[in-house]
Amino acid sequence: MADYDYDLFVIGAGSGGVRASRVAASYGVKVAIAEERFLGGTCVNVGCVPKKLFVYAAHVHEELSDVGGYGWQVGESQFHWQTLRENKDREIARLNGIYQQLLENSGVDLIEGRAQLVGPHTVKVGDCTYSCDKILISTGGRPFVPPLPGNEHMITSEDVFYLDHLPRRVAVVGGGYIAVEFASIFNGLGVETYLLYRGEQILRTFDRELADFAAEQYQEKGITIQCHTTISRIDKENDQLHCTLSDGEVLVVDAVLCATGRNPYLSGLGLENTTVQLNDDGKIKVDQYCQTTEPSIYALGDVTGGPELTPVAIAEAMAFVNTAFGSKPQVMDYNNIATAVFSSPNIAVVGLTEEQAMDKYAKVEVFRTTFRHLKHSITGNPEKTLMKLIVDAQTDKVIGAHMVGAEAGEIIQGIAIAIKAGATKADFDATVGIHPTAAEEFVTLR
Ligand code: NDP
Repeated sequence: MADYDYDLFVIGAGSGGVRASRVAASYGVKVAIAEERFLGGTCVNVGCVPKKLFVYAAHVHEELSDVGGYGWQVGESQFHWQTLRENKDREIARLNGIYQQLLENSGVDLIEGRAQLVGPHTVKVGDCTYSCDKILISTGGRPFVPPLPGNEHMITSEDVFYLDHLPRRVAVVGGGYIAVEFASIFNGLGVETYLLYRGEQILRTFDRELADFAAEQYQEKGITIQCHTTISRIDKENDQLHCTLSDGEVLVVDAVLCATGRNPYLSGLGLENTTVQLNDDGKIKVDQYCQTTEPSIYALGDVTGGPELTPVAIAEAMAFVNTAFGSKPQVMDYNNIATAVFSSPNIAVVGLTEEQAMDKYAKVEVFRTTFRHLKHSITGNPEKTLMKLIVDAQTDKVIGAHMVGAEAGEIIQGIAIAIKAGATKADFDATVGIHPTAAEEFVTLR
């Protein structure tokens, strides 16, 4: 075997890259990881973690207006954006430190800087060149901003975490995960919020009924949703952004958040020095073992075509390392991956939508309920919950579960285990509920 500086060189210390490098090192191989920005990647620094902290902050507002029903009187409340931002920064810095420690304790060499592929077995970082048996690309994604006049005035979800001030009015462009999560955050923090979506209904990839229900809830909470709407141009006048919409209307706001998807972050990586090929969507082509078309180079996470989710990148990392270094070939299973949207209210889903089930199965049964959470029976909060099970009528297997409502992510995570294990509707029915909870509705749907 050739003598390389490293057995594995990982480019990008996000969720997938860090997991792959640590576990590979535990198998006794020599590993380096290069990172140019921050340890923990998008998830820890400008994604899931700070977003969830902001979601909690936004929800406090609603809790404050709910407490009156329970007999509490609280004084006038005030929100300080800088306090939230600084506390968030402190927590993220703590997590960055933990990531660094984890890598050091695992014996992984951390190389700070931008890595570039020089060849199938060679990586360059700054002035140093490293030879490597295997290379793993886990550079994640970066926000995509569509070309339009004035798009330099748009911010992305990554910028929101560093804003000096909370805007008074914001337009959010897009109708996917980031758009509805940040629209809910802004709205919860008291910002006048407009959600502009180009299609017929937001959350296009979700169950139709769920999307309609969620959109109603968002509007009930104060978000203005305008579908069939895009921004044609943005003009900045006296610190205000004048957005000319597709119907000619001009919407004046203080910030425009662009949440129109994320692209794989591959620019300047030196792919042209290898035989790594891309798919039509610009993502790296890999086989079921994360191997690219250049045999010594692997890729996982958001740079490949799977769901852009932290737990998916981590699971891919485990499958890759077990295959490449653990003599335990493992293929990533993309079926029934549960996912949550941390909007207000939360959304969480696993399995097929009603529409997908209708296409795939001969006979489908749908069980649903909508209700007002017990908590809100005396708060006056009009928020409603939706729960829905999709069942293959021929086998009785539950093939989809969908929820809009408080703690949907926490609830669907448990339901996902049942669905992954092949539970039938009869199994759900035979399960005795925990009373009184919202979750028990999933075992009493008739
Ligand atoms: P999404 O793919 O979820 O949504 C993108 C949205 O932007 C869609 O509504 C899309 O419309 C719209 N869009 C795309 N291009 C344009 C355009 N040129 N003009 C106007 N609208 C456009 O991407 P996000 O950016 O919201 O999130 C990226 C990924 O990150 C998600 O796919 C998700 O996997 C992940 N993520 C996960 C989270 C979680 O797990 N809670 C949280 C945040 C992100 P259309 O529907 O018509 O295509």
